[in-house]
Amino acid sequence: MNTSNHKPKILLSSPHMSGKEQKYISEAFETNWIAPLGPNVDAFEREVADMVGTKAAAAVSSGTAAIHLALRLLDVQAGDTVFCSTLTFVASANPILYQGAEPVFIDSEPESWNMSPLALERALSDAKREGKLPKAVIIVHLYGQSAKMDELLHICNAYNVPVIEDAAESLGTTYKGKASGSLGKFGIYSFNGNKIITTSGGGMLVSDDIEAMKQARFLATQARDPAIHYQHSQMGYNYRMSNVLAGIGRAQLEVLEDRVTARRAIFQRYASALQAIPGVEFMPELEGTRMNRWLTAMTLGEEAGTTPSELIHALAEDNIEARPVWKPLHLQPLFAACRYYAHCDNDSVSERLFRTGVCLPSGSAMTEQEQFRVIERIQSVIGVNQFTKGA
Ligand SMILES: *Cc1c(COP(=O)(O)O)cnc(C)c1O
Repeated sequence: MNTSNHKPKILLSSPHMSGKEQKYISEAFETNWIAPLGPNVDAFEREVADMVGTKAAAAVSSGTAAIHLALRLLDVQAGDTVFCSTLTFVASANPILYQGAEPVFIDSEPESWNMSPLALERALSDAKREGKLPKAVIIVHLYGQSAKMDELLHICNAYNVPVIEDAAESLGTTYKGKASGSLGKFGIYSFNGNKIITTSGGGMLVSDDIEAMKQARFLATQARDPAIHYQHSQMGYNYRMSNVLAGIGRAQLEVLEDRVTARRAIFQRYASALQAIPGVEFMPELEGTRMNRWLTAMTLGEEAGTTPSELIHALAEDNIEARPVWKPLHLQPLFAACRYYAHCDNDSVSERLFRTGVCLPSGSAMTEQEQFRVIERIQSVIGVNQFTKGA
């Protein structure tokens, strides 16, 4: 009998409610503001914009929808190209396909695991020579770590290409004192169930361009022209967030800083328990930033004697969920025909991170006891393998 399966499940990142959500939901029910839009939506937008320091925010049904709107606002059309970080979740790039445009994938660099300025510069210079600059660059902030924004923005500005920050995983992270997601032309956040705060499902588009944000709200509500008879001259979407879910978001936003603190403490515990093991390295924290440590990610070098998949399977036997680092998008069958720029000729950083990386359970609701269960299991797996394989 395998008793380990009876141990309670430890998930990678599960929703963590504060208890105050009910108050906002009740208000919505009492005033019958159940439909899309309403006072919670307006307030949630204002509160997010204030927190991240942008002039405007638009609450939408998902982070993916927010990326799609940003691409529409930048007039991305069929046949255009859009550059995108390769080491990310597929949602970063799917909206490029929605527009009939072509993604070009850009590798990571080792210090942040995010977009490589070297690869971006080469890709843009090729694009310029070919007479076809991208309509936008989507920069992803992986696992809560900010990309090297000064360097990347400097390059994009030199070529006059606007930046969309995919900050779905990095709400609460600061880069040189500024909120991650607030530095590009547009930024997007996700409130999916596994993110640092959640509305069960939802997203936010932010920008300092107030006119563009009005247009975003217009497109997100079926692009209704100002007429009582439902007139439309543009194609729109049903992308707005409901007033009930925005209420959940308001309560969650109040505890964002607590969630960041909790996830950083979880990272610290993993790091102090495991970083002395030969071959084990953790995702570094980029200088000048304070990251939210949405997920603790580590790499297993050869010295560890254990591959990511061996470790992930061993943890699964103990009812613990761990995952490989995102499979780079340029390796996905969906994007097999797309171009890719590696960090340098002989080093594809994202591929190396995918081969060696593991994401550990990092939910802010995880107890210390649960985390020690994860740590002990990792120690036993890697320790045993180092002993037997190294002998
Ligand atoms: C979660 C996520 C998204 C998509 O957000 P949804 O709200 O689930 O649509 C986009 N990009 C990244 C990097 C994500 O992790």
